[in-house]
Parts: sequence; structure tokens; C-alpha cells
Amino acid sequence: MIDQLIALYEEAYRFYDPKRAVPPVHVSFYPYIGINHTIRLRDGEVFVRIGTVCSDMPLPCHRGLAYVLVGKLLRKRIPAGAREVYSAYSKSDALRERAAASKRSRGRKVVTSSKGSVYDLDEIFDAVNQQYFAGSIPRPALTWSARKTYRILGHHDATHGHVAISRSLDSTSVPRYIVEYVVFHEMLHIAHPTKHINGRRYNHTPAFRRDERKFAQYDAAEKWIEQNVRNLKKAAKRK
Ligand SMILES: [Zn+2]
Repeated sequence: MIDQLIALYEEAYRFYDPKRAVPPVHVSFYPYIGINHTIRLRDGEVFVRIGTVCSDMPLPCHRGLAYVLVGKLLRKRIPAGAREVYSAYSKSDALRERAAASKRSRGRKVVTSSKGSVYDLDEIFDAVNQQYFAGSIPRPALTWSARKTYRILGHHDATHGHVAISRSLDSTSVPRYIVEYVVFHEMLHIAHPTKHINGRRYNHTPAFRRDERKFAQYDAAEKWIEQNVRNLKKAAKRK
């Protein structure tokens, strides 16, 4: 699936910029709230994050989205057809319903303990808070998720003042800095509250992303997550 998606982004690149070599493209799914996707260029490589609510979007719509995102990145005129095929899907009742359902299920909390079998979230939170926030972030209720989710690794629920971290990370095969990184990301959501502009929610603002890069092992952590989603998925299926 990911390989097919990468091919679509490469195709879009060639479409807009046929004379230049296509840069390395990385595509992953990311637990954005609502229908949201990002594309960015870092060290000559392209990183695409597609919102998990679109994880089973049909390929023709992914193709439309690829042309939209690459067109935005390269500041090119996006062909009307590409925009239409993607926006028809993103406006569909099925997707709207799924986005709403994902928000509802996140509102239904099974609160367990912050102490996992390997990592203690309270202890990790305190350490990250000292290192990056001078201890200024008030500690929310921190719990390991009931299920071993592998695409959604952490979630901050501002309404309930609660942070849940995927139980799939409570494992000796997961380095501690990965758990710290996911906790750090959720803490940034506390430090950067959601902005509402014209009825749209903005969670990962440019200021958020700038702060996110201050994490000492930022590149290593991003790389580890990208390379281990498959293993986390396998572990989640084993239960
Ligand atoms: Zn986030």
C-alpha cells in the first residue's frame, strides 16, 4: 500500500517538474484530528503524512490528493480534475461519518494506569517536562491505551485533560526515547492549544512543528517510527 502511494507522489512530481529528478519520497499515516494531511521538504527529501481517517481511501482519490499536495509544495497550478477527485471523497458522507466516529471514540475513555509493564508514563512525563519545559507543564492524567494501536501512538484529549499513549510502545523492543518523543508530542499539544480560524481547527501549527524539532533525537525518532510501524502492527495483531 505505502509503495503504491509513494509511486503516486513520484508521478505527481514528474507531472509538475518533468526535467528534475524526483526526490526520495516518504509516505506515512498520521493520527491527525479530522481530515488533515501534510507535505514537507526536509534535507532534499519529501515527507508526506496522510490523516489516518483516510487510511482506506481508494487509490484514485489518493492520486488526486498526491497532485494536490505536491502542487502546493511546488506552488504549481493544480489540475482541476485532481482537486475534484480528492475533494469528492473528502466531502463524502462516509468519510465525514468516520471522522466524527473517530472523535467520538476518542471521547470514550477507558482509563487504566500510567505504569506499564516496561515504562512508567508519569516518570517519563516528569523527565521530559524538566528537560524541555522547565517543569512548566501541569501533569495531565496519563494512561496507556486499552488497545495496542499502531498508527495512533498518542492522543491528547484537551476536554478531559487526558493523554493516552499507545500500549504498543510499552515494550522492551521500543527504545525509551520513542516513548519520550510521543509523550513530548502530546505535551506540545498542551503548550500549543488548538487554534480555531474560520471554524477550522489547527493542531499542528508551524510553531508546534518548530518546537517539535527541538526534541534531541527528533530525526532518529521519526525514522524509528517510520521503520517500525510494520512491527508495531504485527505486535498489535498478536495482542
Ligand atoms: Zn499531534
